[in-house]
Amino acid sequence: MEWSERISAALSRPAAQQPPWPDPGQVRSVSAFLATLPPLVTPEEIRALRRQTARVARGEAFLLQGGDCAETFDAPREHLVGTAATLLRMAAVLAEATGTPVVPVGRLAGQYAKPRSDAVDGLGLPVYRGDIVNAPAPDPHQRIPDPVRMIQAHRTARAALDLLRTGRFTGVHTSHEALLLDYERPQLTVDPTDGLLYGGSAHLLWIGERTRRLDGAHVAFAELIANPVAVKLGPGATPAEAAEYAERLDPHGEPGRLTLISRMGSARVREVLPALVERVAATGRQVVWQCDPMHGNTRVSALGYKTRHFDDVVDELEGFFEVHRALGTHPGGVHLEFTGDRVTECLGGPGEVTESDLGGRYESTCDPRLNVDQALELAHRIAELSAKGTSLFR
Ligand code: PEP
Ligand code: MN
Repeated sequence: MEWSERISAALSRPAAQQPPWPDPGQVRSVSAFLATLPPLVTPEEIRALRRQTARVARGEAFLLQGGDCAETFDAPREHLVGTAATLLRMAAVLAEATGTPVVPVGRLAGQYAKPRSDAVDGLGLPVYRGDIVNAPAPDPHQRIPDPVRMIQAHRTARAALDLLRTGRFTGVHTSHEALLLDYERPQLTVDPTDGLLYGGSAHLLWIGERTRRLDGAHVAFAELIANPVAVKLGPGATPAEAAEYAERLDPHGEPGRLTLISRMGSARVREVLPALVERVAATGRQVVWQCDPMHGNTRVSALGYKTRHFDDVVDELEGFFEVHRALGTHPGGVHLEFTGDRVTECLGGPGEVTESDLGGRYESTCDPRLNVDQALELAHRIAELSAKGTSLFR
């Protein structure tokens, strides 16, 4: 079957979380335009990351992934620089303390689309779905999904990648949730050197907790591409599902092709994760196990801010390391939301951010991020946790 037919078949499956575009004709025009642009990242760069995630899967390296929950188009250049620089500082802390190579992957240059639990927000307006779809301002007109925003996303991502490719950020690869299929599809590209299909929008693409249904379009999309791919697993994920992701998304048993990102919450990780890890190991696949200690620990503060406590984040990471240590498997990496800015979005940590501090600098348009001090402190904690193991990371 031709690639075009396989792509059409995959994307004709049910796709959760797609925006209610008011004018499908306009979406087709935008897609056709995006398809004329060169891919944002190259197959060669993607293969370079695959070699690194393979090392992670074999227990020889650690995957550090993170950045904003939702990148915005108007973020100043310093914001991007701050996130990438923080990622590299955290990587240096981890590498230094553990003597293990660290693979830095940013939630950068494309993390513009957000899955949402409800179609309307607290004000009764159509929910903000990320800058690639609509605007966060509480105005009904600005909340109408606008496909032209996909062109702006591509342009913003290109500028971000240009900056990341300058010498200072060598080694930083990009990633985002491959949520918005009308953005991802026109960027698919076949590399004539190996005949494989690559997602051209970022090096690593992941599927979120809300779009991981096994008969859905997102999993079928991930099956087609040769990029390293990841799937988020919440506390409702079953061992049988985890095994099916491993078999379908890593059919040839290639270490590092698939990353499974557990985001269980600090209260559930020790109970739920072991059976998933054991069942996947039984398939014979060498996946990367990564811990996202953010998304299972979100709560609303007394004053109505979405927040997370630094101690819960640390607790989930501790649970993740304990589980892998007990099973003899490799705790391969962490997936975090942080910024290089001194925001006040998460509670606790080195600056002891309190509930009444949250209003001071709450800048996220979606989930709360660790600020630079909390992020660096967390890197030290992760380094301690991994050093506590019988051997590093293993
Ligand atoms: C996210 O990473 O911002 C996200 C929405 O995560 P999850 O799919 O795990 O809820
Ligand atoms: Mn988030």
